[in-house]
Amino acid sequence: MHYIENVIGNLKNKSSNEPEFLQAVEEVLNSLKLVVEKHPEYQNLALLERITEPERIITFRVSWVNDKGQVQVNRGYRVQFNGAIGPYKGGLRFHPSVNQSIMKFLGFEQVFKNALTGLPIGGAKGGSDFDPKGKSDAEIMRFCQSFMNELYRHIGQDVDVPAGDIGVGAREIGYLFGQYRKIRNAYEAGVLTGKGLEYGGSLARKEATGYGLLYYMREMLKANNMTLEGKTVLISGSGNVAIYACEKAQQYGAKVVAMSDSNGCIYDANGINLDVIKQIKEVERGRIKEYANRVNGAVYTENNGKHPIWNIKADIALPCATQNEINLEEAKILVSNGVKVIGEGANMPTNIEAINYFLEKGILLAPAKAANAGGVATSALEMSQNSMRLSWTFEEVDKKLDAIMTNIFANCKKAAEQYNLGTNYVAGANIAAFDKVSKAMIAQGII
Ligand code: NDP
Repeated sequence: MHYIENVIGNLKNKSSNEPEFLQAVEEVLNSLKLVVEKHPEYQNLALLERITEPERIITFRVSWVNDKGQVQVNRGYRVQFNGAIGPYKGGLRFHPSVNQSIMKFLGFEQVFKNALTGLPIGGAKGGSDFDPKGKSDAEIMRFCQSFMNELYRHIGQDVDVPAGDIGVGAREIGYLFGQYRKIRNAYEAGVLTGKGLEYGGSLARKEATGYGLLYYMREMLKANNMTLEGKTVLISGSGNVAIYACEKAQQYGAKVVAMSDSNGCIYDANGINLDVIKQIKEVERGRIKEYANRVNGAVYTENNGKHPIWNIKADIALPCATQNEINLEEAKILVSNGVKVIGEGANMPTNIEAINYFLEKGILLAPAKAANAGGVATSALEMSQNSMRLSWTFEEVDKKLDAIMTNIFANCKKAAEQYNLGTNYVAGANIAAFDKVSKAMIAQGII
């Protein structure tokens, strides 16, 4: 049996209750066949076994008291997946679906994504099954403080640097940082990224993942003689990534006609009014349904176990909500409705069958670990500014972000071409990232 199949088979036995993790591993390893054939020595080094095993998994109890005075208990996680090229780095997710499988898949993806940025950061992920929806500000603060009461001993600006993800934005990072500072009695600004501008945050971090996605899309389209100008776009989600993807897409002259949240989607044939979305989501923390009450002609469709946003006709789809939002059935609908380009803003939004279908049909697919790397890249720029005790302007950070995304696309394209994979940038991203991480691991010996 081929080395790769062996490794996947063993992992399936060992981690059979971790479907998301297995999915992420399979997608990466299956695209490394040609690389592994070229390097038979990898098998003796057990490189694939090592790269798929987290260096450390920490789970912990998070007890806190709600506004009614009742004691609540959640589970906290930090998966420090691979530190070969720098301090562990990756976001924290607060969502009821969080479990070890999801943490491991996100940590695994993060290792490769961080390598693609070209910056010295290892991969990690963390979070909790805490549900921030409907919680008061005081409850969020007490939860974050309790979470940090344990996490602090595992992180540090040269050790592991968490950031935001689903359910963790500027407010949560603020409470987490405050508690860390109090426990440590030191101002170690570089221990968390996504901080507020008043206390060590970076300009353009908020916009970075969404803008970065569009910089990558611009490059990918340019390489295939297309532009964003005049294209119709669907964007799932209406959180941090979705909102700033929409903003940049509109600046590039595209027409975004639909956005969504976990309850449903809105369609606005005139093009989404992003100020209304920002008011509902960033200010009021409300539901997207509200958009249809405020904007004439907009239509709201409730989710019915599926994602109605993918039934809408468009040229480009940008899944920016969560994992596995596009399955094979939805991929077929998208293609039959004329979608020619997919850009993954969320992590692993497309399942393996859907990815294969898109590639088979010649659809251009910008893979998450490359296309959404702008967030973590800008987090690393935040760390640099913290170390230098300097702040760059919005334009300076945005320019560096653009250069990083342009370079990431160039590397994905180069790796795909090197192995005669045409426009399969999914494999290109995996190969380019693996090349860097594997070399660093080999150089550092068997650890
Ligand atoms: P937010 O919490 O800001 O927004 C998430 C959005 O997705 C919300 O609109 C949310 O709807 C929707 N959503 C979440 N879970 C589900 C679900 N199970 N089904 C349907 N909709 C859902 O998160 P981000 O924008 O930060 O993250 C979105 C994606 O991008 C994630 O996959 C994340 O890992 C990835 N990402 C984020 C980065 C960042 O810098 N923030 C960097 C790189 C990747 P609702 O409000 O109803 O829950």
